[in-house]
Amino acid sequence: DSEESTTTQTNVSAAPLITVTDVKVNVSMAEAAKKAYATGADGVGLLRTEHMMLATGTVPYKFIDEGREDELVKVLVDNILKVVDVFYPKTVWYRTLDAPTDEFKTLEGGENEPDEANPMLGWRGIRREIDQPDILKAEFKAIKKLHEQGYTNVGVMLPLLHKPEELRQAKEIARSVGLEPHKDVDFGMMVETPAAAIIIEDFIAEGLDFISFGTNDLTQYTLALDRNNELVAKHYSEAHPAIIKLLKSVIKKCKAAGVTTSICGQAGSKPEIVEILVEAGIDSISANTDAVPTIRKIVAKVEKKIMLEAAKKALMDE
Ligand code: PEP
Ligand code: MG
Repeated sequence: DSEESTTTQTNVSAAPLITVTDVKVNVSMAEAAKKAYATGADGVGLLRTEHMMLATGTVPYKFIDEGREDELVKVLVDNILKVVDVFYPKTVWYRTLDAPTDEFKTLEGGENEPDEANPMLGWRGIRREIDQPDILKAEFKAIKKLHEQGYTNVGVMLPLLHKPEELRQAKEIARSVGLEPHKDVDFGMMVETPAAAIIIEDFIAEGLDFISFGTNDLTQYTLALDRNNELVAKHYSEAHPAIIKLLKSVIKKCKAAGVTTSICGQAGSKPEIVEILVEAGIDSISANTDAVPTIRKIVAKVEKKIMLEAAKKALMDE
């Protein structure tokens, strides 16, 4: 059918450009996996779960309250499977639930969600997952099931951490359902709070396979700018020197410790930021499906420049 022919065409055109830095793709819906794969991406650097859970029409916490955890696990297994299967053996980093409370309001069970003045600064990401660990448990159970089916290409990525204790607690929750971090699955975190970026070495000491920059939030929190407020949108820039300084510093510390670095925020689809990150030695870039071909070209261009400069220097030193 027409979808398949497009797929083949994209694959052929994406194939010849090989880069040292991996170029991955962000996926938010299982149904989008095939199109994302057809870009020739080296894996999924961010698999968002929010849509999968919200598409049930019911707040995930309601499944737990009503003793329907198995149903929630099944929704997750079915959805994640579609992505890890298409991408196998390329890795897929599954990001655990990170929806602010206001996004649950319209769903069944949403009436029980708290009213927060500032949902973006509130009960979301790892904070809520640790307070209500049953959701995280369901997510880990789903990953364990996939693992048992041979889908060892899935990794866990935790959102919105601001202290290493959260990483330790999340690992304990994984172990409680029989999923051993680092052994059974790669275990990593988003770097999207300034706190995490500034004390990344303390997270590294806790044990990390990888980090991925969530520049959407990192920019919002570093510049104190609501990412959804049009009145301040003109000030919102990932190229702000404070952000670039944080990104470079984290890459440097992670490289020294052997922790893989990546980016999955919108900045990973922006050539001017990608150039800086590749020069700084980032291991992979995860971009939107539409941006993958352009980003691959940018990465190749920067790598060529780096290699030519190194070769020139080596010749001069002889
Ligand atoms: C980010 O913050 O950059 C990110 C990728 O996460 P989200 O946009 O889902 O908050
Ligand atoms: Mg984020």
